[in-house]
Amino acid sequence: MSFPTLGLMPELVRAVEEKGYTVPTPIQAGTIPAILTGRDVLAGAQTGTGKTAAFVLPILQLLNQDSGARPRVAPRALVLTPTRELAAQIADNAAGYGRFLALRTAVVFGGVGVKPQIDQLRRGCDLLIATPGRLLDLSEQRVLDLSQVRCFVLDEADRMLDMGFIPAIRRVLKLLPAERQNMMFSATYSQDIRTLAQRILRDPVTVEVASRNATAERVTQCLYRVPKENKRHLLAHLIQDGNWQQVLVFTRTKHGANRLAKQLEGAGIATAAIHGNKSQNARVRALEDFKSVRITALVATEVAARGLDIKELPHVVNYELPNVPEDYVHRIGRTARAGASGSAVSLVASDEEPLLRDIERLLKRSISVAPLPAFPILNTPEGDSGAERSGADGARPDRRPRSTPQDSRRRPGNRGGHSGGAQGSPPHRRGESPARPAAGGPNRGADAHRSHSRQDRRGDRGDRGAGPTATGRNDSGWRRA
Ligand code: AMP
Repeated sequence: MSFPTLGLMPELVRAVEEKGYTVPTPIQAGTIPAILTGRDVLAGAQTGTGKTAAFVLPILQLLNQDSGARPRVAPRALVLTPTRELAAQIADNAAGYGRFLALRTAVVFGGVGVKPQIDQLRRGCDLLIATPGRLLDLSEQRVLDLSQVRCFVLDEADRMLDMGFIPAIRRVLKLLPAERQNMMFSATYSQDIRTLAQRILRDPVTVEVASRNATAERVTQCLYRVPKENKRHLLAHLIQDGNWQQVLVFTRTKHGANRLAKQLEGAGIATAAIHGNKSQNARVRALEDFKSVRITALVATEVAARGLDIKELPHVVNYELPNVPEDYVHRIGRTARAGASGSAVSLVASDEEPLLRDIERLLKRSISVAPLPAFPILNTPEGDSGAERSGADGARPDRRPRSTPQDSRRRPGNRGGHSGGAQGSPPHRRGESPARPAAGGPNRGADAHRSHSRQDRRGDRGDRGAGPTATGRNDSGWRRA
């Protein structure tokens, strides 16, 4: 299978070859020929499968074929996508794929000034990528004419629904001509998605790549059972002890993301937070810093991280488990893109057991429980005294003065100043070597883990709150050794 055999024109083949793509991904092989023949498409694919090229490449070809001599102002193809980051990424990709064609791409999303976007639209575009809110604003201001749209893509449809965009989508649909080709991409198929598909699509070709858990199969997954208040200390330890260079950390709330970023900074780990309350500039800067490994940790909420295209991300951490089990699969899929493998670590507090059960049910398997290593309790900002009373759950109090975040920003070999020394030895069982995660982080070596059975979980819950462990080698994190 090659790009020319899918029916793509030489200019597009050349552009993807220059990007280093040699073989189409399954979603591309499935959708590109169908879209080129004018069919509607319903595609089950999540970020990381190459889904952007799967719709952008054939759309560019159709737009190019349909380019008359008259000057074009109004867009003829519209991609609706839930987040600004995703919109910007699709636009970047479209510019790259279309570099040998004389087509114009524009992108509009909220959170930034509207004036440059208006100017851009007035100059005209062939392909428009947009988030719903700003699109509707611009349409209401009459600076955007959607009457020429012949190709409509609803990207990340499931996320659109989760984010409450359904009324906005309905309003957008009313602005489009009835006669058009439609494509819908969704990582999951709920009943709501099916209903939406029936409303939008006409006799669609359905393309589903692997199962939605396929990505999860390529990711080394494990979990640590750890009380809430010790999560941040364990995370700092995992990053520093495993010498992680790039880790995406998911928190449940924006406030939680800010707080954790501050705490990790305090532990000497260069960190930024990314979420909806941050300005677009701050988000772009954080993402750039993260991609270029100027910072080690990016702490993100689900929505903000959605669709971020970060290549070869080695580590993802669920600081809190997501409420929606499918989000777990999305999150960990960030590490295993384009065939790469990665590690996903979840920090699970006792009240997250039901969420864990839902996730394991979706995965149809249990996630390995990694032995809890000994880790220091660092006196970082907003330290909570409860956690620092004792070396609970493998944790060890460490009240030594810390170097400034600037000084101790972790570089290879720099453990943030909390290793070694008499005080630096983690607690351990007599006759046993100090507890450490398996070399290279917690995911090396299946024998470092033990299977996480229902029985184990019941036992752990029963003993919850039993107090500090003596050894720091306790798998459950809250059971006395
Ligand atoms: P997406 O699912 O569209 O976010 O794409 C995920 C990543 O895969 C992006 O970094 C793309 O540049 C890359 N990609 C897309 N198609 C291919 C391909 N055929 N071969 C290699 N990489 C690809």
